Formats: sequence, C-alpha cells, structure tokens
Amino acid sequence: MAADGVVIVTGANRGIGRGLAADLARTGWPVALVGRSLDKLQEAARDLPSAAVARCYAADVSQWEDVQAVVAAIQADFPAIHGLVNNAGITRDGLVVRMSPEDWQAVINVNLNGTFYFTRSVAPIMMRQRAGRIVNISSVIGLIGNAGQANYAASKAAIVAMTKSVARELGGRGVTCNAIAPGFIETDMTAGLPEKVRADMLQRIPLKRLGRVEDLAGVVRFLLSPDAAWITGQTLVVDGGMVM
Ligand code: NAD
Repeated sequence: MAADGVVIVTGANRGIGRGLAADLARTGWPVALVGRSLDKLQEAARDLPSAAVARCYAADVSQWEDVQAVVAAIQADFPAIHGLVNNAGITRDGLVVRMSPEDWQAVINVNLNGTFYFTRSVAPIMMRQRAGRIVNISSVIGLIGNAGQANYAASKAAIVAMTKSVARELGGRGVTCNAIAPGFIETDMTAGLPEKVRADMLQRIPLKRLGRVEDLAGVVRFLLSPDAAWITGQTLVVDGGMVM
C-alpha cells in the first residue's frame, strides 16, 4: 500500500520502532523517523530500500517544545500526515517500595506524556484533513500489571484509557485511534531480562515462542490501512495468547 501521507514513528532508532518504520517504508509508506539521536536515526534510515521516502527528526518525546517543533517540520516536509505511531518508551524497573520518584516520573514522562504531546500536536492536523490514524504502543503489562513495573504498567494502562478518549473525540472527523498491547517481544528492552524470567514467560505463551517485531508490523499496517477504517478505541493484544 502506498500513499502520500507520511506515517510518523517515534522511537525509530532501534527495536520495535525501527522495525515498524522499516516495514512501513518497504511497503511504500513515506515515513518520518523520530528519536533523540539524529545520527542513530540516519543509520536506521540507511538500511531502507533506496526507493523509500524516509526523513529523520530529532526530538525527545518527553519535551513539549521538541515535539511541537518536529511536528511543524514534518508538516512542512509532507503534503499530509496519515499516521502517528506512538512507540517511544522506556522502563525503570523496581519494586514500588523502593522506586524513586525520579524513576516513576521518567517513565511517565516518556511513555505517557510523550504519547500525549505527539497526539496533541498531530490531532489538529488530522482533524483538518478529516483523516488520520493514531496507533499507540501500550503493553500487556498495562492490562495485567507486573511486580517491579508499577511505573511502566501505570503508563501503559493510561495509554489504553487515553486511546479510548481520543477515539471518542476524533471519530467524528474521520480520525481513528487504537492501541496495540504487545507481549514479550525480543528487543534490546527485553534482552537484559534474566534467563529464568524468559523461560517462565515462555511457559505462559500458548504459541510457544517469544514475539518478534514482525509479529507487530502487520498489525500496525492493518490499523493504518483502509481495512481498519471502522475500528477505533480498541487495544489489540499481540502476545502469542499469553493474556486472554
Ligand atoms: P527499545 O528500548 O529497544 O526502544 C525504545 C525506543 O524509544 C528507542 O528507539 C529509544 O531511543 C526511544 N526513546 C526512548 N526514550 C525516548 C525519548 N525520550 N524521546 C525519543 N525517543 C525515545 O524498546 P522496544 O522493545 O523497541 O519498545 C518499543 C515500545 O514497545 C515501547 O513503548 C515499549 O514499552 C513497547 N513494548 C515493548 C515490549 C517488548 O517486549 N519489547 C512489549 C510491550 C510493549
């Protein structure tokens, strides 16, 4: 599927965001890669096919001024903004009785505030276009919680609630807003987990393997496509059946 409108992917310099941006570019979508380091984004963009339309924009998603400036630049560079994939996210794990306020705030600032800042900046443009797709990357942890991840779980649960509210507000203008709740996907974020945690996780997955970025890419493409025109406010769980 090819289109004129760009799809913005935040946190595109590695992991899921990088994989999603590459998949979209390969299938003909113009992509705007957003991340904190322009160098790393450009490295990610170099891997894309030569025919791909991809531009890189440096922004810390937790900084409102950064986000406003980047969205203005993207708007100037492309005729329309078709999609926004709010993917940038971090973890700062620790039991709640030991968690510092700084670790709490850091996760909320990036995962939740970053999703809000981008939605806040892009939604008026999509409303004027009377078309647009917002896809928020939540997590199964936002649905079931996890010991040691109160901050992360709270940020991801809030994204689910925000998705429904935004869907209700923007639906009348032809803009959809959905979330994806991935299970355990093999990326740098999960690479540091102890072997026992990975083995326990595997036990709980009916499809008997950990997830890959490709397991999410088709779902994102679907939510951006005309086939998903009548789906909004939903959270699609993509986790090999772990949470049901
Ligand atoms: P990752 O750590 O490999 O990538 C995170 C990306 O976000 C990186 O590109 C990083 O540079 C970017 N980022 C972090 N803080 C940023 C900031 N302030 N401004 C701009 N960019 C910033 O992690 P990942 O596994 O690829 O995770 C991507 C998303 O998927 C996250 O929202 C994560 O919570 C979610 N998720 C991951 C898993 C998993 O198992 N890996 C499961 C469920 C949900």
